[in-house]
Amino acid sequence: MEFSYIGWTDHSMNFWWGCHKVSPACKYCYIGQIMRRSGREPFHGPIRTSEATWKKAFSWDRKAARLGRRYRVFTCSMSDFFHAKADRWRSEAWDVIRQCRHLDWQILTKRSHRIARCLPDDWGTGWPHVWLGVTVESQAYTNRLDDLIQIPAAVRFVSAEPLLETINITPWASDLDWVITGCERAAVEKRRPMDPDAVRSLREQCDRADVAFFLKQYYAGNQLQFDGQLDGVVRQAWPTQSSNLTLA
Ligand code: SF4
Repeated sequence: MEFSYIGWTDHSMNFWWGCHKVSPACKYCYIGQIMRRSGREPFHGPIRTSEATWKKAFSWDRKAARLGRRYRVFTCSMSDFFHAKADRWRSEAWDVIRQCRHLDWQILTKRSHRIARCLPDDWGTGWPHVWLGVTVESQAYTNRLDDLIQIPAAVRFVSAEPLLETINITPWASDLDWVITGCERAAVEKRRPMDPDAVRSLREQCDRADVAFFLKQYYAGNQLQFDGQLDGVVRQAWPTQSSNLTLA
């Protein structure tokens, strides 16, 4: 997918498609609709995508180098990069990521307990162009932050989407660089509402800890909004690390 509709990234690269649901955030996972439309079953685990899809990364990387800018790449938006059934393909995916260093790879997972064992041997203190993130939709899943902060990474981030309740992230905030949040996207009769005070709480915790905060989406009535407005101010920031990135 070139140029993603997700406001905090530029591209989505799916080395594999398909997943299994692991927590309440998955309830209305969008891959269900998207994959069924193309005749595939989304929740029977990942299937590897085509070579043509994998090659797109190299063309984005060349373009980024040519233009002297960085593109952000949401990695496995239609699956989970750390899904156990993708273990057989992951080292090849790491090879692509290793080579495409003009891109910032945003790897977001709900399988945080598998990150450490799935890193490449030369991960060291973290590759400078790879961001690692975990989904935390409610307080019960802040254990994913415990896993995340054990891993060295250029950028550590949290996606609190769908934001299901007020979450206290302050105990981990000094080890985080970025927090994204947003409401659940689902039919009006299904979706779990996002409390604006829960968004404000995250914003305030980020501001106190100097963590970049990005409000991705919210509903105004039944209209989905992507403008990042919160109390009259646009709150859509990225971590500064990537703009400071220099690669040998
Ligand atoms: S982990 Fe992500 S991709 Fe997998 S089912 Fe849950 S929301 Fe969907």
